[in-house]
Amino acid sequence: MSENGFTTQIIHSDRRSGIEHGAIHKPVHVSTEYAYADARELAAVFQGKAGYTYARQGTPTTTALELQVTRMEQGEATVSFATGMAALAATFLALLRHGDHLISSKYIFGNTNSLLMTLENFGVELTLVDATDAAEVAAAIRPNTRMVFVETIANPGTQVADLAAIGELCKAHNLVYVVDSTLSSPYLCPSKFYGASLVVNSLSKHIGGHGNGLGGAVTQTGLYDWSDYPNIYASYRKGSPRNWGLLQIKKKGLRDMGGTLSSDVAHRVAAGAETLALRMDRICSNAMALASFLSVHPKVTRVHYPGLASHPQHERASQLFGGRYGGLMGVELDPRIDVFEVLNRLKVAILATHLGDNRTLVLPAAHTIYYEMGPEHRALMGIPDGFLRISVGIEDENDLTGDFAQALDADANS
Ligand SMILES: *Cc1c(COP(=O)(O)O)cnc(C)c1O
Repeated sequence: MSENGFTTQIIHSDRRSGIEHGAIHKPVHVSTEYAYADARELAAVFQGKAGYTYARQGTPTTTALELQVTRMEQGEATVSFATGMAALAATFLALLRHGDHLISSKYIFGNTNSLLMTLENFGVELTLVDATDAAEVAAAIRPNTRMVFVETIANPGTQVADLAAIGELCKAHNLVYVVDSTLSSPYLCPSKFYGASLVVNSLSKHIGGHGNGLGGAVTQTGLYDWSDYPNIYASYRKGSPRNWGLLQIKKKGLRDMGGTLSSDVAHRVAAGAETLALRMDRICSNAMALASFLSVHPKVTRVHYPGLASHPQHERASQLFGGRYGGLMGVELDPRIDVFEVLNRLKVAILATHLGDNRTLVLPAAHTIYYEMGPEHRALMGIPDGFLRISVGIEDENDLTGDFAQALDADANS
């Protein structure tokens, strides 16, 4: 059977995987517990047969969303979580142990960075590298290295990891390659194509897209064989070794840690996911226009956006993401300008954290999401005081460029 395109697959996903009562959307299943007429069947589900027992490990509604994400990533299976952070925490905590070594890109989301510090306190050895250069990853590999973690496009600096070369390295050294694809979204490119073992997405961002629900997901691409991975418990070494890692993430992350997505939110995210491709196309073209406008503005020192020829990984981004560069940019204002004054003049763009929303959102990064880590760590991550993180939405292009033009051009004393 020839596969349908990205959007056709997503919008027909619920219908094709077993419709209930003619309902086009997967119904929102609110039941906490699932009953069985036959005790043997109940036991079988507890022992690994597909089915539902207690909603902490999922419902038919969360399964429907997981199927959508699996299709987007062209993967094999997905487990959903209450947030992107819950998905990341479950992945690290389920698969790493005291004494293991983790190599991570140093260009990552601030909260993920903070989570890695917690792992270090539990005895996981951590090396932060410049993942735009696969040679740095290669040089960091030790005998006890288990995992490499990168973001496709880094939040907020927009560095593009050397995804394919790192994938080759992980394959050669049999390392688990975890890729956070939140900023590119699987629409720009499924991470499987550059060798990811597991792909993490924050569903709160582009996939949900409407700023009305938090969620996260981990997808197994099928490229990693867990047979020789030492940290898989005996009880999860059942069936195909390709499934062991995700099974353990599900058991530890949902059953034991309880980071479960509710059916209500799963439904909202799934409805948002139907238009991912349409929104992303619009977001990418708006972002390109805004980045081009800001990059030549006299009050702007630098624009970090992979779509600009001046971006250090522009060529790589073009190859990886098919000429689309996402919706996030970092903008450094002339240090003589009062960042807060400029932000206060914006009329269309909203002063709020979050990204991947339909609305354009702006944040002074050093004073907000990067405040807690202090000036030295900010300098290491390349976040000066005048750094604006802009998440571009689907507004009309001229309204956006016009809004930033008036905010920058207004006389600061008027
Ligand atoms: C927002 C974000 C997360 C966390 O997602 P939440 O759903 O907000 O918990 C993880 N990674 C990246 C790159 C993000 O931007």
